[in-house]
Amino acid sequence: MSSINDCIKFDLDIKDKNIFFYDNFYKFFNGVQYKVYEALLKQPACPFCGSLNFIKTGRLKTHVRYITADASRPIVIRLFKQRILCRDCQRRSIAQSDLVDKHCCISNASKRKVLSALTEDRSMTSIARENNVSVNTVQRVLASCSHRFLDGYDYLPEYLAFDEFKGVDRTLHFICLDADSHTVVQILRTRYKSVLLKYFGKFSSQARMAVKTVSMDLNFYYQDIVRACFPNARIVIDRFHIVQMLARSLNSLRVQVMKQYEKSSREYKLLKSPWKLYLKKFRDLEKLHPVYNWHYKDCLTQEQIVMEGIACNEELENSYNLLQDFFEAIDNHDTAKVEELLYSKLPVGNLMHKTLLTFRRNKAAVLNGITSTYSNGYLEGFNRKIKQIERTAYGYSNFISLLTRIRVSVI
Ligand SMILES: [Zn+2]
Repeated sequence: MSSINDCIKFDLDIKDKNIFFYDNFYKFFNGVQYKVYEALLKQPACPFCGSLNFIKTGRLKTHVRYITADASRPIVIRLFKQRILCRDCQRRSIAQSDLVDKHCCISNASKRKVLSALTEDRSMTSIARENNVSVNTVQRVLASCSHRFLDGYDYLPEYLAFDEFKGVDRTLHFICLDADSHTVVQILRTRYKSVLLKYFGKFSSQARMAVKTVSMDLNFYYQDIVRACFPNARIVIDRFHIVQMLARSLNSLRVQVMKQYEKSSREYKLLKSPWKLYLKKFRDLEKLHPVYNWHYKDCLTQEQIVMEGIACNEELENSYNLLQDFFEAIDNHDTAKVEELLYSKLPVGNLMHKTLLTFRRNKAAVLNGITSTYSNGYLEGFNRKIKQIERTAYGYSNFISLLTRIRVSVI
């Protein structure tokens, strides 16, 4: 037959041999029913000299919060820590245990549970409530983790990806990822050119020389940073952004054309509600089965909608065909075709023309983007994850807390 000590220890999963449980009861405190376990923490020997020759000089009463499955009935361990005076070295000490840190009343098990909950997409308030600790405790557990992604300035990955995301106080933070392993290299508070030059300037020249490609969006000064800091790196304009810019240009042209028609006209309706179809790849459109749509009161396939829609305007038709040709060329990594498309003379609308001019100015980098196997697609996904972390917390006011939470969540 097990003793009460063994039963409680088994129940609470406590293995410290110096702790002896001898009582358990319920107690109301501030309207909450607590489960209280009473235990004695013995000091087996003097921690300074290891002597067993000591006098017991009393006990220190502490209340340790412990993990529980039922948050409505919190568990508290009333732990009496033995005080001793060593006869050999004449020094005083209080017994300590792995259960709880010195000068702390939150058990280490609770802290571990809080930390594991912090890796999930949950608010700190909900974690605090479930573990019967305060929000400040959850913040302290988070703060005990490091927010640094990369220690030292001797190494940089060969393939980097640059981007930015909106964070604390709606400012844009700079993010740099390893394009191979998709791990974070660094997140910086601001994305100013001087800050980035200073940061990458700290790395050893060997580390900077090792960088082979840097993929980015069409942010003009990122390219200056790459030229200044990474002499051997190729600039790669990300395919994701190339397509995104073209699609945006086509979309705004579609809206312009649409507004030329009466709202009740068939053309207006064909250009308005099925707007997503115009941005899809042509081969992915449904070509066989017509579906009745009450907007334009007709039974059409997706292909028929798009063909009839773009036929409204010559510029729109050219723009649509240009986007489709880009899709095909990017899929086939066909640089010759892309180069030909960049110098296309067809009228394609103002915005699309500007986009093409921008691509022409960065032609080498755009062509690198077409041939390169690296793309920033995953970085955009990563940014989405960061956005989710911020939304769950209703925003962060402390940049370091945000960084730590991101680091804890992605590892
Ligand atoms: Zn001693």
